Amino acid sequence: MSKPEVPFPQSPVVPNMVEGDHQIQFSCHKGISCWNACCANIDISLTPYDIVRLKKHLGISSTDFLREYTVPYEMEKDGLAGVKLRPIENGSACRFMQPEGCGVYADRPTACRYYPVALLSLRRQDEYIDRQSYAIVKEAHCKGHEVARPINIDDYRKEQGVVEYDDLARGWRQLVLKKKSSGPSIGAPSLKSRQLFFMACYDIDTFHSFVESDAFGKLFKLGADEKAMLMADDVELMQFAFRFLKQVMFGEQSIPLDEEAAQLRLSNWQVRQAQIELEAAEKRAKLEQEMLEEGIEPDVTGLCDDEGGSCSRD
Ligand code: SF4
Ligand code: SF4
Repeated sequence: MSKPEVPFPQSPVVPNMVEGDHQIQFSCHKGISCWNACCANIDISLTPYDIVRLKKHLGISSTDFLREYTVPYEMEKDGLAGVKLRPIENGSACRFMQPEGCGVYADRPTACRYYPVALLSLRRQDEYIDRQSYAIVKEAHCKGHEVARPINIDDYRKEQGVVEYDDLARGWRQLVLKKKSSGPSIGAPSLKSRQLFFMACYDIDTFHSFVESDAFGKLFKLGADEKAMLMADDVELMQFAFRFLKQVMFGEQSIPLDEEAAQLRLSNWQVRQAQIELEAAEKRAKLEQEMLEEGIEPDVTGLCDDEGGSCSRD
């Protein structure tokens, strides 16, 4: 067994990487002395599919769910945002924890289903597929490890209904891994990209309105049947969101564009860029003029917009 990078640096658990055929000994059941101990101190990241299931369970919009039940966090410095379950006010317990157990059990998040196994999704820079490995989380308070019930991880995932959750979150994991493995050469995504990522991945109801909008319809060519299907099914819409993000963040075209609208957008963008450059040039000229009037020799290099650019004076 090899030791991977610790996925959560603040975690006291140092995992060993294992495969799906690895056997564990574990059982969690009502009546166990540690009942609910794991839900009393949570650090649970949510996948987009977790949010779709939970907001449906609670009968609220994704926007309200995000506001009421989650906190955003940075998955990596200057990178993409993730979402965690928000614990109770002034405490660390899960807001869904009840004396009899999980209050949203049928729709509990992926991380809760996996426990005491942790999923490690890895992708090498030169690979186009992500590899799934696992780590075992052994915390002193969890007595489930002391129950003599052997089961391998693949069977445990099936038992806990995690396979469907993993399949439906794969597109999101690939986006995150693609961003991480693209390295510093790609740089931090723009604010607009990060906002789009957050909305499309986590706020499915706002993404629904976005796809339904005239502006979206003018730029992307979706067939009437496909659009109707997306508008009627959050899970289909979520998968479409991952395709959409691959297209806008990484240029992987899979949604046909309306050529005329795309061309118009490009022209508008070019006009805006030209305006910005013109305004900057006018500002520079005005500043230089003012400095000359005050008898100061303007240092043009200090007025350049781009560091190390071609604007220099001999
Ligand atoms: S969602 Fe349910 S299982 Fe998960 S931490 Fe909350 S109470 Fe526990
Ligand atoms: S056995 Fe572990 S997972 Fe089950 S209730 Fe106890 S602490 Fe939680």
